[in-house]
Order: sequence, then structure tokens, then C-alpha cells
Amino acid sequence: MTYEGTLTKMQTELGTPIQYYLVFENSFLNVNQLLGKEIEIIFDGYQCLNCGKEKKIFRQGFCYDCFYSSPAVGDWIMKPELSTAHLGIADRDLEYESRVQLRPHIVYFASSSEIKVGVTRDSQVPTRWIDQGAEQALAIVEVPNRYLAGITEVALKNHFADKTNWRKMLTNDIIEVDLMEEKQKVAALLPAEVREFFDLNAFHVESLQHPVLEYPKKIASLSLDKNPSFQGKLTGIKAQYLIFENGTVFNVRSNEGYKVRISV
Ligand SMILES: [Zn+2]
Repeated sequence: MTYEGTLTKMQTELGTPIQYYLVFENSFLNVNQLLGKEIEIIFDGYQCLNCGKEKKIFRQGFCYDCFYSSPAVGDWIMKPELSTAHLGIADRDLEYESRVQLRPHIVYFASSSEIKVGVTRDSQVPTRWIDQGAEQALAIVEVPNRYLAGITEVALKNHFADKTNWRKMLTNDIIEVDLMEEKQKVAALLPAEVREFFDLNAFHVESLQHPVLEYPKKIASLSLDKNPSFQGKLTGIKAQYLIFENGTVFNVRSNEGYKVRISV
């Protein structure tokens, strides 16, 4: 069986374990069903997710021109504190930015290798946590817009990591933490504008179960640009990574916009 199309990040469904889907234009694939099986991935060119042209992918599934013009990849995506729609000020497209920024956002703790703090739109819970390979996650505070979430994250970054250590996450080198206990400590660290939204008991800790048969001890990342044809036995799926028996890991998300043929 061969599936082909342009890669986009895997769709997920919270379950025990989490279910993963690769969705192509004319077909989709429940990736969990491939666990324990040999699969082949063949690189077949690029297609920008924004303009659809067969141009080399620059970042986040976008070609160079789209990456520097589309409102969907402005700086405020990675740095929520740069959001300005609440002031009526545009970065690239105020209508788009208002739609995305002026809605409830969650600042959360996620634990994988260590505790990290992050920001997401309320509609992206628990998707965002799954995409980061969290073992556990807990919302710290829900605020009415992206800017407030961003300044909260900045305040907490002095005390917690804000990036996932993906090597540790993929080798399951994780620590035990009590996120509720950590949440109790952060009330005093929140920016003044955000304190009114904090409620210690508003959320519960979410535990995530990842479909991994066996964790590798050492990992090496697969690059389709350098290695356009890969074959291996799938032993796990975590965050947006496919994990293979020999320790090769393939980050589906960082290969968005790559056209592939996947044979099972
Ligand atoms: Zn483009």
C-alpha cells in the first residue's frame, strides 16, 4: 500500500494511547497501525503549504516568499509577547491577527524531560501538549488574548525552561514532577495584569500516553534533503516524531511541505 502527498503535521486524537493520522489530499493513514512494521519514505519534491507552488521549503512548510509575507507566520507566533492586535496595531494583517490573537489563550506547564512553560490558544488544548510530547500538562492560567499570555510566559521563563529538550523527550529521559505543586508557587510570579485570571483549582493535570513500543537509547535525525529514501521499522510515535528501530527519528512537523510517498 502506498500513500502519497504533501506532509503536514500529524493530526492527533487524545486516547490511550494517543492516535496519530497522516492526512493527504486523497487519503489518510492511522499511523498507530504501522507500529512494529517496516515502512519506506521517499522524498518527492516540495510544495509550499501557503502558495501551493513547488518551491523549496524555507521554514514551517512555507517557501521563502510566503514565510516573509504571510500573516500566519509573523514573529508574534513564536514570541506571543509581540502581539499587538489588542492595541489595534497590525504586524502583517490586522484582520487575521485579531482573529487569532484576540481570543482566549492558555499559559501552561508541560513536563517531558523537565518542566517547561508554554502558550497556546484554548482551542489547541490538548493538541499542543501532544505535539510537544508532554508526559503531563497543566494549564496555569487562561487569559483573554495572546499578548497577556505572552507576557506571562516571559515572566515565568526566568524560572522555567520554555523549550522542549527533544533528545531527552525521545529517549524518555524524563523526571517526575508535581505540576500542581509548581502551579501553587507561580501565583506570585505572574504579571499584575494577569493575576485576576489566576485560579489554582480551575484546571486538572492531564496525563498523556504515547504510542511507543520501545524508546531508543541514542537518536539520529532523518533529513529527507540528505537522505531522500529511507526504510525502517516503526517503533514509536511521540510529539510529531516517528521513531524507528535503529534510533532514526523523523520530525513530521519540520518536514511540512515535503512531498512524499510512504509505502507500508
Ligand atoms: Zn509559498
